[in-house]
Amino acid sequence: MPYKVTLIPGDGIGPEVVESTRRVLAVLGIEFDWEIGIVGEAAQQQFGTPLPDKVLESIKKNKVALKGPVTTPIGTGFRSVNVALRQRLDLYACLRPCKTYPGIHTPFQNVDIVVVRENTEDLYSGIEFARGSSESEKLRELITKSGYKPVREDSGFSIKFISETGSRRIVKFAFEYARANRRKKVTAVHKANIMKFTDGLFLSVAREVAKEYADIEFEDVVVDAACMRLVKNPKLFDVMVLPNLYGDIVSDLCAGLVGGLGVAPGANMGDNMAIFEPTHGSAPKYRGQNKINPMAMMLSAKMMLLYLGEKQAAERLEKAVADVIAEGKKLTYDLKPDPSEPAATTSEVADAVIEKLKK
Ligand code: NAD
Repeated sequence: MPYKVTLIPGDGIGPEVVESTRRVLAVLGIEFDWEIGIVGEAAQQQFGTPLPDKVLESIKKNKVALKGPVTTPIGTGFRSVNVALRQRLDLYACLRPCKTYPGIHTPFQNVDIVVVRENTEDLYSGIEFARGSSESEKLRELITKSGYKPVREDSGFSIKFISETGSRRIVKFAFEYARANRRKKVTAVHKANIMKFTDGLFLSVAREVAKEYADIEFEDVVVDAACMRLVKNPKLFDVMVLPNLYGDIVSDLCAGLVGGLGVAPGANMGDNMAIFEPTHGSAPKYRGQNKINPMAMMLSAKMMLLYLGEKQAAERLEKAVADVIAEGKKLTYDLKPDPSEPAATTSEVADAVIEKLKK
């Protein structure tokens, strides 16, 4: 029986990395029945909504999706489809492994960090009140009545909330992941010294949950110090668990440590379904140029294979990607130490990975 998987090509560079990945998956000997889902600007034009119900239903039914990045209009227009998918399907855990593959030119070798980002709360809630709106006015009044220093009249508001429930399940997810993958340490990252009722809550729940996992070391670090330590000595970290916004920023930082967004895969996971997508966005300026690195998407597909229980195929795919990196002949521009060196195209990288798989 083929695996039924929802396939979201996305936009910008999305269709290129998704197609390369689909070609690579096709030679692994595992059959897929892809159900295509159109979202974002194309869906807005075709169906009048950037996230059609049909796509949500398809993911709910198949329980697994492979997704390319989707552009979010800045400042105006529809809100992020990527965030909406995570929220609507309650995919509360974003899993982003960042590991150096031999052959990648980076000042750091042997980095192997797994970022676990909370996906449904925090400043990503999308709850916002525009400058000058009646809601902003009411909020300003409430703030003043509550004894805080008045907020300027010309302010907009973005709401940050963090719950005990949300914190507990993401920290548990991080510890369960650590245990299942023989990891030694979980680091909770926060700014509890400043945001006592949100990050403070996250931290106190993390400390409580940590007591249930005596076999795994636990530490907590404030987010600014965590960034400094990551850049100074990334080997200090193993599994990191973070509220949504810090998780977003720190996962790009970690991607930078291991060679960049071109090799940073990811997954958004709920209790019984998951969407696999790279950390990177739709990089619109490279759209249609056959130039960008498809490896992050391929490594996301590797995570999907693991999720489907196809461990051997997952290992073969990762090894093929790692071999292409180690060989250094077919690498896209982002992995070239000297930008003036000729680089491989997206499709040439896919061909090189396929060649390795066929050996
Ligand atoms: P981005 O990740 O798309 O690109 C930033 C830069 O990183 C690119 O210009 C490029 O230099 C490099 N890069 C990214 N992916 C690469 C790859 N595979 N190979 C080589 N280089 C790569 O970030 P952005 O420019 O901030 O965002 C563009 C759009 O993508 C925005 O609309 C944003 O909202 C959206 N976005 C979507 C997702 C998602 O779909 N999950 C995630 C992040 C951003």
